[in-house]
Amino acid sequence: MRIDYDVVIVGAGAGGLYTALNLKDDNKILIICKEDLQSCDSMLAQGGICVLRDENDYDDFFNDTLSAGHFENRKETVDIMIKSSRDIINNLLDLGVRFDKNSDGSLKYTKEAAHSKPRICFHNDTTGKEIVETLLSKVKEKSNITIMDYTEMKDIIVEDNVCRGIIAENKFGEIINIYADNTVLATGGIGGLYEHSTNFPSLTGDAIKIAKKHNIELENLDYVQIHPTSLYSEKSGRHFLISESARGEGAILLDKNGNRFVNELLPRDILSKEIYKQMEKENSKYVRLSFEPVSKEVIKNHFKNIYNTCLERGYDITKEPIPVVPAQHYFMGGIHVDINSKTSMKNLYAVGETSCTGVHGKNRLASNSLLECLVFAKRSAMNIDSGKGE
Ligand SMILES: Cc1cc2nc3c(=O)[nH]c(=O)nc-3n(C[C@H](O)[C@H](O)[C@H](O)COP(=O)(O)OP(=O)(O)OC[C@H]3O[C@@H](n4cnc5c(N)ncnc54)[C@H](O)[C@@H]3O)c2cc1C
Repeated sequence: MRIDYDVVIVGAGAGGLYTALNLKDDNKILIICKEDLQSCDSMLAQGGICVLRDENDYDDFFNDTLSAGHFENRKETVDIMIKSSRDIINNLLDLGVRFDKNSDGSLKYTKEAAHSKPRICFHNDTTGKEIVETLLSKVKEKSNITIMDYTEMKDIIVEDNVCRGIIAENKFGEIINIYADNTVLATGGIGGLYEHSTNFPSLTGDAIKIAKKHNIELENLDYVQIHPTSLYSEKSGRHFLISESARGEGAILLDKNGNRFVNELLPRDILSKEIYKQMEKENSKYVRLSFEPVSKEVIKNHFKNIYNTCLERGYDITKEPIPVVPAQHYFMGGIHVDINSKTSMKNLYAVGETSCTGVHGKNRLASNSLLECLVFAKRSAMNIDSGKGE
């Protein structure tokens, strides 16, 4: 079966949806996703999305990002991301995203590890869900955009080193050749390849495998982020994340005797190592996270999702510490892209976690990924519309 579109977008997370919304309405667009529309990591984002608070924050935001990334970041893309951040947040507000606000109507900011100041916009502890549901409702209003769920990309169509679309299998097991002038890969992370991960198991780095097969340039494939605090469970499958903003708001890590053993706000990679060391010392499968320093009001409002999920699993975080363990969380490497999210193959773009813009260097600063995703998704759309796909 053959179908034809102007743009095919593989992935319906924040990256795929925002690309579609930023393309001009005269494009005939197809978005596909592997499972249902809910099964994307963007839905799971808890902490929030970074923004440049004001011009005086530029140097700090830049340095925080580079310092977390071990100074291996691409400075040009970090600069673009930071300078674009306010427009992205304003656009999300215009689209209807309900970020938490102060009584005077200004945005509330929270803090996560390795940020020198609070600069993260959030919606309770379900920011990703709020953003994705808003983007999805806007996409569904567009008559030029079609979504096919349970449709899996199996390969790309390549002619003379130019991408002409993708080959996919739909929910009926039919193979479809989807031809498009431009193709955008937005397939997310690689957590499904790991035993312990905070990601959806269906996210298995498919676009990266396909890119490798076609000699498309890849970058930093060994840069995998381990999140310090997922809720410990004996069960396999997706681990529930305990957002870093919990530690940003005061939660502390304890050893088996109930004593603090580390600075909880160290960058993720360093803190994960310290936790592993402590687990080895205690011969334990986890350490403990205590919400005692966080007020009950903050727990029940800001951390409503964490509070309720822990309660369902038998832990009342207002009363007792919870067992936490590091887990695979994010992939800094991926398909190499330029400042407009173009890959090394003509007419092929990559956005979001599957791409490598170089923004994160060796280690991602918390809450920079949703921002990176949206900034470069928009740039890919603008580039496609300006006809510079080649
Ligand atoms: C628990 C958790 C909490 C997080 N919290 C934050 C946070 O607070 N702030 C922040 O900035 N970042 C956070 N992140 C990271 C961030 O959510 C992700 O990096 C980002 O949302 C990725 O968006 P994406 O569009 O690239 O991918 P996703 O949102 O994961 O979407 C991937 C899409 O690709 C589709 N797909 C995959 N393979 C195929 C295929 N072969 N064929 C067709 N479709 C395919 C999937 O079905 C899905 O629709 C968090 C991540 C996790 C897991």
